[in-house]
Amino acid sequence: MTVQGKTAIITGSNSGIGLGVARELAKAGSNVVLNSFTDRDEDHALAAGIAEEFGVTATYVQADMSKGDQCRALIEKAGGCDILVNNAGIQHVAPIDQFPQDKWDAIIAINMNSAFHTMAAALPVMRERGWGRVVNIASAHGLTASPYKAAYVAAKHGVVGMTKTVALETAQEPITCNAVCPGYVLTPLVEAQIPDTMKEYNMSRDEVVKNVMLTRQPSKEFATVEQMGGTVVFLCSDAAAQITGTTISVDGGWTAL
Ligand code: NAD
Repeated sequence: MTVQGKTAIITGSNSGIGLGVARELAKAGSNVVLNSFTDRDEDHALAAGIAEEFGVTATYVQADMSKGDQCRALIEKAGGCDILVNNAGIQHVAPIDQFPQDKWDAIIAINMNSAFHTMAAALPVMRERGWGRVVNIASAHGLTASPYKAAYVAAKHGVVGMTKTVALETAQEPITCNAVCPGYVLTPLVEAQIPDTMKEYNMSRDEVVKNVMLTRQPSKEFATVEQMGGTVVFLCSDAAAQITGTTISVDGGWTAL
């Protein structure tokens, strides 16, 4: 496997998709650096668990992805970077004329600006090591829009644009840069919303998933964090060496509509 023995940094990886990606990369033999803004025992325990389960090196580095200098420090503290997965992200939903300015600033900083800072810091490291893979976790909202998600849609479109730019800047080097665009993914956060929605609409779990949550996802199935991880591992493989500057949708057909 191409990723075997490589060092992968995954931002925002103490839960959800980031953790799923870290686990799939570790399963494929990559050493992983987990990250979030917290510094709890359980964060470090997550890394220790991955190291033990997959027989790789796994560490946890605290860094707040809303702060440019901390994004850059993460790359330095990781002690090497062959694979960079920009995954940290938050959401806030409101009409644009009522969108709180602090929420706008936080979403743009965490979901978009962080990728600028980490890529700026990681590319020289990859060049020195002679190989690199950047995978930015964008969204179906990097390609389409929904009402009330101005900041998120702007940030994710920005990430897709930045991905193409970095791909062109590295096109003649053994470095690729791509974006994965998930539709709805079953993360603990999404799972936790199901019981309340069942009560609110007096619906079964299946009805809530198909008729409320997945109205825009033609497959009527959630994507999984393992599928996100598998897509990232593929983008890091030799088979994907000529795939750069593009988006891969893992969205059950959402963006085909
Ligand atoms: P999640 O809330 O489970 O994970 C977000 C991660 O980012 C967490 O580990 C969190 O600790 C971290 N994070 C938040 N703020 C941070 C900060 N300031 N600094 C460092 N880390 C920070 O959500 P998720 O669903 O796993 O989302 C992961 C990514 O996937 C996001 O970029 C999100 O936009 C994208 N995405 C998710 C879905 C979905 O359906 N779940 C769909 C499309 C795209």
